Amino acid sequence: MEEIRELIEKYALQNAVKYKAAPNRGAVMGKLMGEHPDLRCRAKEVSPIINEVLAVVEKTSFDEWQKRLLAIAPELLAELSEKKEPDKGLPALDGAENGVVMRFAPNPNGPPTLGSARGIIVNSEYVKKYGGKFIIRFDDTDPVKKRPMPEAYGWYLEDCEWLGARPDVVITASERVSDYYPIAEELIRRGGAYVCGCAQAVFKEHKDRGIECEHRSQSVEQNLALWKQMLDGTLAEGQAVLRVKTDMHHKDPAIRDWPAFRIVTTPHPLVGAKYRVWPLLDFESAVEDHLLGTTHIIRGKDLADSGSRQRYLYAHLGWQYPRVIHWGRIKIHQFGSFSTSKLRKAIEAGEYSGWDDPRVPTVRAVRGRGIRAEALRKFMIDLGVGETDISISMDSIYAENRKIIDPEANRRFFVWDPVALEVEGDVPAVAHAPLHPAIDRGTREIPAGKRLFICKSDLAALKVGDNIRLKDLCNVQITSLEPARALFLAKDMGQRTRIIHWAPVDGPRVVVMKPDGTDEGVGEAGIAEELGRVVQFERYGFVRISSVGERIVANFAHR
Ligand SMILES: [Zn+2]
Repeated sequence: MEEIRELIEKYALQNAVKYKAAPNRGAVMGKLMGEHPDLRCRAKEVSPIINEVLAVVEKTSFDEWQKRLLAIAPELLAELSEKKEPDKGLPALDGAENGVVMRFAPNPNGPPTLGSARGIIVNSEYVKKYGGKFIIRFDDTDPVKKRPMPEAYGWYLEDCEWLGARPDVVITASERVSDYYPIAEELIRRGGAYVCGCAQAVFKEHKDRGIECEHRSQSVEQNLALWKQMLDGTLAEGQAVLRVKTDMHHKDPAIRDWPAFRIVTTPHPLVGAKYRVWPLLDFESAVEDHLLGTTHIIRGKDLADSGSRQRYLYAHLGWQYPRVIHWGRIKIHQFGSFSTSKLRKAIEAGEYSGWDDPRVPTVRAVRGRGIRAEALRKFMIDLGVGETDISISMDSIYAENRKIIDPEANRRFFVWDPVALEVEGDVPAVAHAPLHPAIDRGTREIPAGKRLFICKSDLAALKVGDNIRLKDLCNVQITSLEPARALFLAKDMGQRTRIIHWAPVDGPRVVVMKPDGTDEGVGEAGIAEELGRVVQFERYGFVRISSVGERIVANFAHR
Protein backbone atom coordinates (compact mmCIF):
# COMPACT_ATOMS: atom_id res chain seq x y z
CA MET A 1 0.00 0.00 0.00
CA GLU A 2 2.82 2.39 0.88
CA GLU A 3 4.32 1.65 -2.49
CA ILE A 4 1.11 2.60 -4.24
CA ARG A 5 0.86 5.77 -2.18
CA GLU A 6 4.35 6.74 -3.27
CA LEU A 7 3.59 6.07 -6.91
CA ILE A 8 0.51 8.23 -6.68
CA GLU A 9 2.46 11.02 -5.04
CA LYS A 10 5.08 10.93 -7.81
CA TYR A 11 2.51 11.10 -10.56
CA ALA A 12 0.49 13.78 -8.78
CA LEU A 13 3.60 15.93 -8.35
CA GLN A 14 4.65 15.39 -11.95
CA ASN A 15 1.21 16.40 -13.15
CA ALA A 16 1.18 19.46 -10.90
CA VAL A 17 4.63 20.60 -11.99
CA LYS A 18 3.85 20.00 -15.66
CA TYR A 19 0.72 22.15 -15.63
CA LYS A 20 1.71 24.49 -12.80
CA ALA A 21 -1.63 23.72 -11.15
CA ALA A 22 -3.15 21.40 -8.57
CA PRO A 23 -2.90 17.85 -9.93
CA ASN A 24 -5.72 16.55 -12.09
CA ARG A 25 -7.29 13.49 -10.51
CA GLY A 26 -8.23 11.79 -13.76
CA ALA A 27 -4.76 12.30 -15.21
CA VAL A 28 -3.09 10.87 -12.10
CA MET A 29 -5.36 7.83 -12.12
CA GLY A 30 -4.86 7.42 -15.85
CA LYS A 31 -1.08 7.53 -15.53
CA LEU A 32 -1.12 5.11 -12.61
CA MET A 33 -3.29 2.59 -14.44
CA GLY A 34 -1.42 3.11 -17.67
CA GLU A 35 2.00 2.45 -16.16
CA HIS A 36 0.80 -0.26 -13.78
CA PRO A 37 -1.94 -2.27 -15.47
CA ASP A 38 -1.84 -4.74 -12.59
CA LEU A 39 -3.53 -2.10 -10.43
CA ARG A 40 -6.54 -1.83 -12.72
CA CYS A 41 -8.52 -4.43 -10.82
CA ARG A 42 -7.78 -2.58 -7.58
CA ALA A 43 -9.22 0.77 -8.67
CA LYS A 44 -11.66 0.80 -5.74
CA GLU A 45 -8.85 0.39 -3.24
CA VAL A 46 -6.61 2.91 -4.95
CA SER A 47 -9.20 5.64 -5.34
CA PRO A 48 -9.34 6.83 -1.68
CA ILE A 49 -5.52 6.90 -1.53
CA ILE A 50 -5.49 9.20 -4.54
CA ASN A 51 -7.93 11.49 -2.76
CA GLU A 52 -5.75 11.61 0.33
CA VAL A 53 -2.55 12.26 -1.60
CA LEU A 54 -4.12 14.94 -3.78
CA ALA A 55 -5.55 16.72 -0.74
CA VAL A 56 -2.02 17.01 0.64
CA VAL A 57 -0.36 18.04 -2.63
CA GLU A 58 -3.00 20.66 -3.36
CA LYS A 59 -2.08 22.53 -0.20
CA THR A 60 1.56 23.04 -1.15
CA SER A 61 3.14 25.42 -3.66
CA PHE A 62 4.76 25.01 -7.07
CA ASP A 63 8.27 25.32 -5.58
CA GLU A 64 7.55 22.65 -3.04
CA TRP A 65 6.15 20.34 -5.76
CA GLN A 66 9.36 20.71 -7.72
CA LYS A 67 11.59 20.14 -4.69
CA ARG A 68 9.68 17.13 -3.52
CA LEU A 69 9.55 15.60 -7.03
CA LEU A 70 13.29 16.10 -7.39
CA ALA A 71 13.74 14.31 -4.07
CA ILE A 72 11.50 11.29 -4.65
CA ALA A 73 11.45 10.89 -8.45
CA PRO A 74 14.12 12.95 -10.26
CA GLU A 75 13.51 10.87 -13.41
CA LEU A 76 9.95 12.15 -13.67
CA LEU A 77 11.13 15.73 -13.36
CA ALA A 78 13.72 15.09 -16.06
CA GLU A 79 11.01 13.62 -18.28
CA LEU A 80 9.19 16.96 -18.13
CA SER A 81 12.15 18.97 -19.34
CA GLU A 82 12.74 16.44 -22.12
CA LYS A 83 9.19 17.02 -23.24
CA LYS A 84 10.02 20.67 -23.74
CA GLU A 85 12.03 19.50 -26.77
CA PRO A 86 9.12 19.14 -29.16
CA ASP A 87 11.16 18.09 -32.17
CA LYS A 88 11.05 14.34 -31.91
CA GLY A 89 10.04 13.89 -35.52
CA LEU A 90 11.28 17.22 -36.84
CA PRO A 91 14.86 17.52 -38.08
CA ALA A 92 16.94 20.52 -37.09
CA LEU A 93 16.75 23.52 -39.44
CA ASP A 94 19.91 24.92 -40.97
CA GLY A 95 20.51 28.55 -40.21
CA ALA A 96 17.99 28.70 -37.38
CA GLU A 97 20.42 29.61 -34.60
CA ASN A 98 19.17 33.18 -34.30
CA GLY A 99 15.50 32.35 -34.52
CA VAL A 100 13.22 31.79 -37.48
CA VAL A 101 10.40 33.54 -39.28
CA MET A 102 8.06 30.99 -40.78
CA ARG A 103 4.67 31.25 -42.32
CA PHE A 104 1.75 29.14 -43.27
CA ALA A 105 0.14 30.77 -46.28
CA PRO A 106 -3.26 29.36 -47.24
CA ASN A 107 -5.69 30.63 -49.79
CA PRO A 108 -8.82 30.98 -47.63
CA ASN A 109 -11.21 29.40 -50.14
CA GLY A 110 -12.47 27.00 -47.45
CA PRO A 111 -11.61 26.06 -43.87
CA PRO A 112 -8.35 24.33 -42.90
CA THR A 113 -8.19 20.66 -43.83
CA LEU A 114 -6.03 18.01 -42.19
CA GLY A 115 -3.37 18.86 -44.77
CA SER A 116 -3.45 22.49 -43.62
CA ALA A 117 -3.21 21.29 -40.03
CA ARG A 118 0.13 19.71 -40.87
CA GLY A 119 1.45 23.01 -42.26
CA ILE A 120 0.15 25.00 -39.31
CA ILE A 121 1.50 22.57 -36.72
CA VAL A 122 4.94 21.99 -38.22
CA ASN A 123 5.70 25.65 -39.03
CA SER A 124 4.56 26.85 -35.63
CA GLU A 125 6.44 24.04 -33.91
CA TYR A 126 9.69 25.17 -35.48
CA VAL A 127 9.04 28.69 -34.28
CA LYS A 128 8.44 27.36 -30.77
CA LYS A 129 11.70 25.45 -30.97
CA TYR A 130 13.96 28.21 -32.28
CA GLY A 131 12.09 31.33 -31.26
CA GLY A 132 10.98 33.95 -33.75
CA LYS A 133 7.70 34.61 -35.49
CA PHE A 134 4.95 32.38 -36.78
CA ILE A 135 2.92 34.09 -39.46
CA ILE A 136 -0.41 33.23 -40.98
CA ARG A 137 -0.57 34.84 -44.36
CA PHE A 138 -3.67 34.73 -46.49
CA ASP A 139 -2.56 34.42 -50.12
CA ASP A 140 -5.93 35.60 -51.34
CA THR A 141 -5.19 37.58 -54.47
CA ASP A 142 -7.20 35.51 -56.94
CA PRO A 143 -10.71 36.96 -56.96
CA VAL A 144 -11.87 34.65 -59.75
CA LYS A 145 -10.63 31.08 -59.91
CA LYS A 146 -9.68 30.42 -56.30
CA ARG A 147 -12.07 32.96 -54.93
CA PRO A 148 -11.60 33.42 -51.17
CA MET A 149 -14.47 32.78 -48.79
CA PRO A 150 -14.99 35.64 -46.30
CA GLU A 151 -15.82 33.29 -43.39
CA ALA A 152 -12.72 31.18 -43.95
CA TYR A 153 -10.27 33.82 -42.68
CA GLY A 154 -11.75 33.59 -39.19
CA TRP A 155 -11.94 29.80 -39.41
CA TYR A 156 -8.21 29.62 -39.99
CA LEU A 157 -7.46 31.74 -36.96
CA GLU A 158 -9.91 29.79 -34.84
CA ASP A 159 -8.42 26.46 -35.87
CA CYS A 160 -4.84 27.73 -35.35
CA GLU A 161 -5.80 28.70 -31.83
CA TRP A 162 -7.35 25.29 -31.24
CA LEU A 163 -4.27 23.56 -32.62
CA GLY A 164 -2.11 25.46 -30.14
CA ALA A 165 -0.53 27.51 -32.94
CA ARG A 166 -1.64 31.07 -32.40
CA PRO A 167 0.14 33.21 -35.02
CA ASP A 168 2.33 36.13 -33.98
CA VAL A 169 1.38 38.01 -37.13
CA VAL A 170 -1.62 37.75 -39.46
CA ILE A 171 -1.25 39.14 -42.97
CA THR A 172 -3.93 39.46 -45.61
CA ALA A 173 -2.37 39.91 -49.03
CA SER A 174 -5.48 41.40 -50.64
CA GLU A 175 -5.19 44.34 -48.26
CA ARG A 176 -1.59 45.00 -49.25
CA VAL A 177 -1.79 44.99 -53.04
CA SER A 178 -0.87 48.68 -53.29
CA ASP A 179 2.39 47.87 -51.45
CA TYR A 180 3.32 45.57 -54.30
CA TYR A 181 3.01 48.22 -57.02
CA PRO A 182 6.19 50.16 -56.18
CA ILE A 183 8.05 46.84 -56.17
CA ALA A 184 6.70 46.05 -59.64
CA GLU A 185 7.86 49.48 -60.79
CA GLU A 186 11.30 48.96 -59.34
CA LEU A 187 11.44 45.62 -61.11
CA ILE A 188 10.58 47.30 -64.42
CA ARG A 189 13.23 49.96 -63.81
CA ARG A 190 15.80 47.27 -63.25
CA GLY A 191 14.84 45.69 -66.56
CA GLY A 192 13.43 42.62 -64.81
CA ALA A 193 9.87 42.81 -66.14
CA TYR A 194 7.88 43.94 -69.16
CA VAL A 195 4.28 44.56 -70.03
CA CYS A 196 3.23 41.92 -72.51
CA GLY A 197 0.22 42.45 -74.75
CA CYS A 198 0.31 39.02 -76.38
CA ALA A 199 -2.89 37.03 -76.39
CA GLN A 200 -2.51 34.11 -73.95
CA ALA A 201 -2.46 31.48 -76.69
CA VAL A 202 0.10 33.41 -78.70
CA PHE A 203 2.43 33.79 -75.76
CA LYS A 204 2.07 30.13 -74.89
CA GLU A 205 3.19 29.16 -78.35
CA HIS A 206 6.19 31.50 -78.08
CA LYS A 207 6.99 30.14 -74.66
CA ASP A 208 6.81 26.51 -75.68
CA ARG A 209 9.12 27.18 -78.61
CA GLY A 210 11.47 29.36 -76.58
CA ILE A 211 10.91 32.45 -78.71
CA GLU A 212 10.90 35.95 -77.23
CA CYS A 213 7.78 37.99 -77.97
CA GLU A 214 7.93 41.48 -79.45
CA HIS A 215 7.25 43.08 -76.02
CA ARG A 216 10.31 41.67 -74.33
CA SER A 217 12.57 44.25 -75.91
CA GLN A 218 10.48 47.32 -74.99
CA SER A 219 12.39 50.07 -73.21
CA VAL A 220 11.96 50.72 -69.47
CA GLU A 221 10.06 53.93 -70.34
CA GLN A 222 7.65 52.06 -72.61
CA ASN A 223 7.08 49.46 -69.92
CA LEU A 224 6.49 52.07 -67.22
CA ALA A 225 3.96 53.83 -69.44
CA LEU A 226 2.14 50.60 -70.21
CA TRP A 227 2.18 49.59 -66.53
CA LYS A 228 0.52 52.93 -65.76
CA GLN A 229 -2.13 52.13 -68.37
CA MET A 230 -2.78 48.79 -66.69
CA LEU A 231 -3.34 50.60 -63.40
CA ASP A 232 -5.42 53.52 -64.67
CA GLY A 233 -7.83 51.51 -66.76
CA THR A 234 -6.61 52.48 -70.21
CA LEU A 235 -5.85 48.81 -70.81
CA ALA A 236 -8.76 46.40 -70.32
CA GLU A 237 -8.89 43.00 -68.66
CA GLY A 238 -7.04 40.46 -70.81
CA GLN A 239 -5.16 43.10 -72.80
CA ALA A 240 -1.88 42.99 -70.90
CA VAL A 241 0.09 41.29 -68.16
CA LEU A 242 3.34 42.19 -66.45
CA ARG A 243 5.89 39.43 -66.98
CA VAL A 244 9.04 38.68 -65.03
CA LYS A 245 12.05 38.11 -67.29
CA THR A 246 13.63 34.73 -66.70
CA ASP A 247 15.20 32.74 -69.50
CA MET A 248 13.20 31.98 -72.62
CA HIS A 249 15.47 28.98 -73.20
CA HIS A 250 15.06 27.53 -69.73
CA LYS A 251 14.71 23.78 -70.07
CA ASP A 252 11.35 23.91 -68.33
CA PRO A 253 8.82 26.08 -70.22
CA ALA A 254 6.93 26.68 -66.94
CA ILE A 255 9.83 28.80 -65.73
CA ARG A 256 10.04 31.00 -68.85
CA ASP A 257 8.90 34.65 -68.44
CA TRP A 258 6.06 34.14 -66.00
CA PRO A 259 3.17 36.55 -65.38
CA ALA A 260 3.37 38.61 -62.19
CA PHE A 261 0.33 40.89 -62.55
CA ARG A 262 -2.86 40.84 -64.55
CA ILE A 263 -5.97 42.95 -64.82
CA VAL A 264 -9.02 41.59 -62.99
CA THR A 265 -12.21 43.59 -62.80
CA THR A 266 -14.24 41.03 -60.83
CA PRO A 267 -14.67 42.52 -57.35
CA HIS A 268 -12.75 40.75 -54.58
CA PRO A 269 -14.92 39.36 -51.75
CA LEU A 270 -12.95 41.29 -49.15
CA VAL A 271 -11.72 44.50 -50.76
CA GLY A 272 -14.24 44.83 -53.59
CA ALA A 273 -13.12 46.84 -56.60
CA LYS A 274 -10.28 48.60 -54.78
CA TYR A 275 -7.69 47.22 -57.21
CA ARG A 276 -7.87 46.35 -60.89
CA VAL A 277 -4.34 45.00 -61.21
CA TRP A 278 -3.81 41.86 -59.17
CA PRO A 279 -0.59 39.95 -58.49
CA LEU A 280 -0.46 36.26 -59.28
CA LEU A 281 0.49 33.90 -56.49
CA ASP A 282 4.18 33.50 -57.44
CA PHE A 283 4.75 37.24 -57.27
CA GLU A 284 2.61 37.92 -54.22
CA SER A 285 4.08 35.16 -52.08
CA ALA A 286 7.66 35.88 -53.16
CA VAL A 287 7.33 39.55 -52.32
CA GLU A 288 5.59 38.87 -49.03
CA ASP A 289 8.26 36.40 -47.99
CA HIS A 290 10.80 39.16 -48.53
CA LEU A 291 8.76 41.87 -46.80
CA LEU A 292 8.09 39.62 -43.81
CA GLY A 293 11.68 38.45 -43.49
CA THR A 294 10.73 34.78 -43.91
CA THR A 295 13.78 32.67 -43.11
CA HIS A 296 12.50 29.20 -43.97
CA ILE A 297 9.77 28.01 -46.29
CA ILE A 298 8.27 24.55 -46.07
CA ARG A 299 6.61 23.79 -49.36
CA GLY A 300 5.23 20.80 -51.20
CA LYS A 301 7.79 19.31 -53.54
CA ASP A 302 5.17 19.59 -56.29
CA LEU A 303 5.60 23.35 -55.95
CA ALA A 304 9.35 23.33 -56.60
CA ASP A 305 8.73 25.21 -59.89
CA SER A 306 7.38 28.09 -57.92
CA GLY A 307 10.71 28.47 -56.15
CA SER A 308 12.58 28.38 -59.45
CA ARG A 309 10.39 31.16 -60.86
CA GLN A 310 10.66 33.27 -57.74
CA ARG A 311 14.45 33.06 -57.61
CA TYR A 312 14.60 35.10 -60.84
CA LEU A 313 12.53 37.81 -59.21
CA TYR A 314 14.80 37.81 -56.15
CA ALA A 315 17.86 38.04 -58.38
CA HIS A 316 16.46 41.07 -60.27
CA LEU A 317 15.77 42.84 -57.00
CA GLY A 318 18.96 41.80 -55.24
CA TRP A 319 17.12 39.98 -52.48
CA GLN A 320 18.15 36.80 -50.70
CA TYR A 321 15.83 33.84 -51.13
CA PRO A 322 14.72 32.07 -47.91
CA ARG A 323 15.85 28.51 -47.19
CA VAL A 324 13.42 25.96 -48.58
CA ILE A 325 12.41 22.52 -47.35
CA HIS A 326 10.39 20.46 -49.80
CA TRP A 327 8.07 17.91 -48.33
CA GLY A 328 5.94 15.18 -49.81
CA ARG A 329 2.17 15.21 -49.82
CA ILE A 330 0.12 13.29 -47.36
CA LYS A 331 -2.87 11.34 -48.48
CA ILE A 332 -5.33 10.08 -45.92
CA HIS A 333 -6.73 6.90 -47.27
CA GLN A 334 -10.09 7.11 -45.50
CA PHE A 335 -10.75 10.35 -47.37
CA GLY A 336 -9.18 9.56 -50.71
CA SER A 337 -7.87 12.51 -52.63
CA PHE A 338 -9.73 15.66 -51.79
CA SER A 339 -9.32 19.29 -52.60
CA THR A 340 -10.96 22.29 -51.02
CA SER A 341 -12.69 23.18 -54.28
CA LYS A 342 -14.04 19.63 -54.69
CA LEU A 343 -15.32 19.64 -51.13
CA ARG A 344 -16.93 23.00 -51.66
CA LYS A 345 -18.84 21.73 -54.68
CA ALA A 346 -20.00 18.66 -52.78
CA ILE A 347 -21.20 20.79 -49.89
CA GLU A 348 -23.01 23.18 -52.20
CA ALA A 349 -24.64 20.20 -53.88
CA GLY A 350 -25.91 19.05 -50.48
CA GLU A 351 -23.83 15.88 -50.35
CA TYR A 352 -22.51 17.01 -46.97
CA SER A 353 -24.27 19.09 -44.34
CA GLY A 354 -21.41 21.61 -44.20
CA TRP A 355 -17.70 22.07 -43.56
CA ASP A 356 -18.08 20.41 -40.17
CA ASP A 357 -19.91 17.34 -41.47
CA PRO A 358 -18.25 14.36 -39.70
CA ARG A 359 -17.50 12.81 -43.09
CA VAL A 360 -15.20 15.59 -44.35
CA PRO A 361 -11.47 15.93 -43.61
CA THR A 362 -11.53 19.45 -42.23
CA VAL A 363 -10.06 20.46 -38.90
CA ARG A 364 -13.49 21.65 -37.72
CA ALA A 365 -15.06 18.31 -38.58
CA VAL A 366 -12.52 16.18 -36.72
CA ARG A 367 -12.67 18.59 -33.80
CA GLY A 368 -16.45 18.16 -33.71
CA ARG A 369 -15.93 14.41 -33.52
CA GLY A 370 -13.84 14.64 -30.38
CA ILE A 371 -10.38 14.34 -31.90
CA ARG A 372 -7.99 16.31 -29.70
CA ALA A 373 -5.54 18.91 -30.90
CA GLU A 374 -2.76 17.17 -28.92
CA ALA A 375 -3.36 13.97 -30.87
CA LEU A 376 -3.15 15.77 -34.21
CA ARG A 377 -0.07 17.69 -33.12
CA LYS A 378 1.76 14.61 -31.96
CA PHE A 379 0.85 12.75 -35.10
CA MET A 380 1.88 15.53 -37.51
CA ILE A 381 5.14 16.20 -35.70
CA ASP A 382 6.05 12.52 -35.65
CA LEU A 383 5.40 12.42 -39.42
CA GLY A 384 8.32 14.80 -39.88
CA VAL A 385 9.06 16.68 -43.09
CA GLY A 386 10.26 13.94 -45.43
CA GLU A 387 10.23 14.32 -49.18
CA THR A 388 8.39 11.11 -49.84
CA ASP A 389 4.65 11.19 -50.43
CA ILE A 390 2.94 9.28 -47.68
CA SER A 391 -0.37 7.61 -47.38
CA ILE A 392 -1.61 7.66 -43.83
CA SER A 393 -4.55 6.12 -42.10
CA MET A 394 -6.81 7.97 -39.72
CA ASP A 395 -6.33 4.94 -37.47
CA SER A 396 -2.91 6.28 -36.45
CA ILE A 397 -4.49 9.56 -35.38
CA TYR A 398 -7.24 7.65 -33.61
CA ALA A 399 -4.65 5.63 -31.69
CA GLU A 400 -3.04 8.84 -30.41
CA ASN A 401 -6.42 10.25 -29.59
CA ARG A 402 -7.59 7.17 -27.74
CA LYS A 403 -4.74 7.53 -25.25
CA ILE A 404 -5.91 11.02 -24.43
CA ILE A 405 -9.67 10.57 -24.28
CA ASP A 406 -9.95 7.10 -22.80
CA PRO A 407 -9.24 8.19 -19.21
CA GLU A 408 -11.55 11.20 -19.56
CA ALA A 409 -14.56 9.72 -21.29
CA ASN A 410 -17.49 8.53 -19.21
CA ARG A 411 -19.09 5.27 -20.23
CA ARG A 412 -22.68 5.22 -21.38
CA PHE A 413 -25.03 2.62 -22.78
CA PHE A 414 -26.22 2.90 -26.35
CA VAL A 415 -28.29 0.27 -28.11
CA TRP A 416 -28.48 0.51 -31.87
CA ASP A 417 -31.20 -1.21 -33.93
CA PRO A 418 -33.10 -1.72 -30.67
CA VAL A 419 -35.56 -4.56 -30.06
CA ALA A 420 -37.64 -4.94 -26.89
CA LEU A 421 -36.89 -7.64 -24.33
CA GLU A 422 -39.54 -8.50 -21.70
CA VAL A 423 -38.10 -9.83 -18.47
CA GLU A 424 -40.22 -11.67 -15.90
CA GLY A 425 -39.31 -11.69 -12.24
CA ASP A 426 -37.53 -9.37 -9.81
CA VAL A 427 -35.61 -7.20 -12.22
CA PRO A 428 -34.07 -4.27 -10.28
CA ALA A 429 -35.78 -0.98 -11.04
CA VAL A 430 -32.46 0.81 -11.28
CA ALA A 431 -28.98 -0.24 -12.41
CA HIS A 432 -25.83 1.20 -10.87
CA ALA A 433 -22.97 1.31 -13.33
CA PRO A 434 -19.52 2.89 -12.99
CA LEU A 435 -18.88 6.03 -15.04
CA HIS A 436 -15.42 4.65 -15.82
CA PRO A 437 -14.21 1.08 -15.49
CA ALA A 438 -10.70 1.94 -14.22
CA ILE A 439 -10.99 5.42 -12.77
CA ASP A 440 -13.32 5.92 -9.86
CA ARG A 441 -15.60 8.76 -10.80
CA GLY A 442 -18.63 7.28 -9.10
CA THR A 443 -21.61 5.51 -10.57
CA ARG A 444 -24.52 6.43 -12.73
CA GLU A 445 -28.07 5.32 -12.17
CA ILE A 446 -29.98 3.90 -15.09
CA PRO A 447 -33.69 3.20 -14.72
CA ALA A 448 -34.34 -0.42 -15.71
CA GLY A 449 -37.50 -2.50 -15.23
CA LYS A 450 -39.25 -5.36 -16.93
CA ARG A 451 -39.07 -4.01 -20.44
CA LEU A 452 -35.69 -3.13 -21.95
CA PHE A 453 -34.05 -2.63 -25.31
CA ILE A 454 -31.19 -4.74 -26.61
CA CYS A 455 -29.41 -4.72 -29.98
CA LYS A 456 -31.09 -6.70 -32.70
CA SER A 457 -27.73 -8.28 -33.59
CA ASP A 458 -27.29 -9.49 -29.99
CA LEU A 459 -30.71 -11.07 -30.00
CA ALA A 460 -29.96 -12.80 -33.29
CA ALA A 461 -27.01 -14.56 -31.67
CA LEU A 462 -29.06 -15.92 -28.73
CA LYS A 463 -30.90 -19.21 -28.29
CA VAL A 464 -33.72 -20.11 -25.95
CA GLY A 465 -32.20 -21.34 -22.71
CA ASP A 466 -29.08 -19.10 -22.91
CA ASN A 467 -28.06 -17.46 -19.65
CA ILE A 468 -26.81 -13.96 -20.16
CA ARG A 469 -25.88 -10.97 -18.06
CA LEU A 470 -27.56 -7.65 -18.74
CA LYS A 471 -24.60 -5.44 -18.02
CA ASP A 472 -24.54 -3.93 -14.52
CA LEU A 473 -28.16 -5.04 -13.96
CA CYS A 474 -28.86 -8.75 -13.54
CA ASN A 475 -28.58 -12.22 -15.02
CA VAL A 476 -31.46 -13.62 -17.05
CA GLN A 477 -32.33 -16.70 -19.03
CA ILE A 478 -33.76 -16.37 -22.50
CA THR A 479 -37.18 -18.01 -22.67
CA SER A 480 -38.37 -16.91 -26.09
CA LEU A 481 -36.93 -15.18 -29.13
CA GLU A 482 -40.02 -13.93 -30.96
CA PRO A 483 -41.13 -11.99 -29.07
CA ALA A 484 -37.96 -11.67 -27.04
CA ARG A 485 -38.52 -12.75 -23.46
CA ALA A 486 -36.32 -13.68 -20.55
CA LEU A 487 -36.57 -14.79 -16.96
CA PHE A 488 -34.80 -13.01 -14.10
CA LEU A 489 -32.22 -15.32 -12.46
CA ALA A 490 -30.22 -13.25 -9.99
CA LYS A 491 -28.74 -9.80 -9.49
CA ASP A 492 -25.28 -11.24 -9.75
CA MET A 493 -24.38 -14.84 -10.42
CA GLY A 494 -20.71 -14.17 -9.67
CA GLN A 495 -19.69 -16.14 -12.70
CA ARG A 496 -18.65 -15.28 -16.20
CA THR A 497 -21.44 -15.30 -18.71
CA ARG A 498 -22.04 -13.52 -21.91
CA ILE A 499 -22.66 -9.80 -21.31
CA ILE A 500 -25.31 -7.95 -23.27
CA HIS A 501 -25.77 -4.20 -23.24
CA TRP A 502 -29.22 -2.73 -22.88
CA ALA A 503 -31.05 0.56 -22.68
CA PRO A 504 -34.17 1.69 -20.84
CA VAL A 505 -37.33 1.75 -22.98
CA ASP A 506 -37.89 5.41 -22.20
CA GLY A 507 -34.25 6.37 -22.83
CA PRO A 508 -33.48 9.21 -25.23
CA ARG A 509 -33.35 8.55 -28.97
CA VAL A 510 -29.77 8.82 -30.21
CA VAL A 511 -28.40 9.17 -33.71
CA VAL A 512 -24.69 8.67 -34.31
CA MET A 513 -23.17 10.43 -37.31
CA LYS A 514 -20.29 8.35 -38.64
CA PRO A 515 -17.89 9.01 -41.50
CA ASP A 516 -19.58 6.15 -43.35
CA GLY A 517 -23.24 6.54 -42.39
CA THR A 518 -25.45 6.77 -39.33
CA ASP A 519 -26.58 4.47 -36.52
CA GLU A 520 -29.82 5.08 -34.68
CA GLY A 521 -30.91 3.75 -31.36
CA VAL A 522 -31.67 4.38 -27.72
CA GLY A 523 -29.36 5.42 -24.91
CA GLU A 524 -29.45 6.25 -21.25
CA ALA A 525 -30.77 9.59 -19.96
CA GLY A 526 -27.35 10.67 -18.62
CA ILE A 527 -26.04 11.11 -22.18
CA ALA A 528 -27.78 14.49 -22.32
CA GLU A 529 -25.52 15.72 -19.50
CA GLU A 530 -22.48 15.06 -21.65
CA LEU A 531 -23.24 17.75 -24.23
CA GLY A 532 -20.01 18.92 -25.87
CA ARG A 533 -18.00 16.12 -24.28
CA VAL A 534 -16.57 12.87 -25.50
CA VAL A 535 -18.08 9.69 -24.07
CA GLN A 536 -17.60 6.06 -24.81
CA PHE A 537 -20.72 4.26 -25.88
CA GLU A 538 -19.78 0.93 -24.34
CA ARG A 539 -18.74 -1.71 -26.83
CA TYR A 540 -19.48 0.74 -29.64
CA GLY A 541 -16.86 3.48 -29.62
CA PHE A 542 -16.02 7.04 -28.64
CA VAL A 543 -18.40 9.76 -29.69
CA ARG A 544 -18.76 13.46 -29.05
CA ILE A 545 -22.22 14.60 -28.03
CA SER A 546 -22.90 17.46 -30.42
CA SER A 547 -26.53 18.31 -29.71
CA VAL A 548 -29.24 17.41 -27.29
CA GLY A 549 -32.91 17.89 -28.06
CA GLU A 550 -35.79 15.75 -29.16
CA ARG A 551 -33.06 13.34 -30.09
CA ILE A 552 -29.42 13.33 -29.18
CA VAL A 553 -26.88 13.73 -31.97
CA ALA A 554 -23.47 12.18 -31.41
CA ASN A 555 -20.50 12.44 -33.78
CA PHE A 556 -18.51 9.26 -34.01
CA ALA A 557 -14.80 9.63 -33.24
CA HIS A 558 -13.38 6.13 -33.42
CA ARG A 559 -13.57 2.76 -31.74
ZN1 LIG B 1 4.21 39.71 -75.54
